[in-house]
Amino acid sequence: MQKILLVEDEVSIARFVELELTHEGYAVTKAEDGRQGLALAEGNGFDLVLLDIMLPGLNGLEVLRRLRKTSDVPVIMLTARDAVMDKVTGLDMGADDYITKPFSIEELLARIRTALRRKNAQALPQLVIGPLVLDVARHTLTVAGENVDLTGREFSLLQVLMENKDIVLTRDVLMERVWGYDYLGETNVVDVYIRYLRAKIGEKAGQQLIHTVRGLGYVVREEI
Ligand code: CA
Repeated sequence: MQKILLVEDEVSIARFVELELTHEGYAVTKAEDGRQGLALAEGNGFDLVLLDIMLPGLNGLEVLRRLRKTSDVPVIMLTARDAVMDKVTGLDMGADDYITKPFSIEELLARIRTALRRKNAQALPQLVIGPLVLDVARHTLTVAGENVDLTGREFSLLQVLMENKDIVLTRDVLMERVWGYDYLGETNVVDVYIRYLRAKIGEKAGQQLIHTVRGLGYVVREEI
């Protein structure tokens, strides 16, 4: 049974989500404030963490920042409507995804499945393009021999691009393959993640590898 930690101080939301997740066959542990959530997340081998941002004690972003020092457990942030800065900050800090309140339970379940599927990805061979070596089984990236840390979502995006070397992929295709469901969030999320990847890979690679094809999408190819 897969274990999910739910860090949420709003009792009615926490009860509702716990009920639905339990019904779906997940084992749910609840925490009502940031400190308790962090302590539980660090020590208990959870498969996934649902983390509210507005929490007493430590807020969700601070919990995430501290958790990422010791753990790469998938984290889905629960954010208030229109809190764009929170979303961007959360993704910057290594959240795998976020969902905006109020959310439907179907959407939450879809996102949980996607995050867990990525976590449980089967062993696959390395993908190598120029200085990039992506080890799908170990979930590592090296650029010219140097390790580069990627979030789950960044990794998936780069994997899809590298699997389709020299093939232009549209934003819609990338959304579908990386996010894996009918995504309801901002449509520029692909561009945001491309920027993250470029920033992380950029200088180490010594060349641009992720190219924008204006009006179409993105492609990974080596410069000749
Ligand atoms: Ca809250």
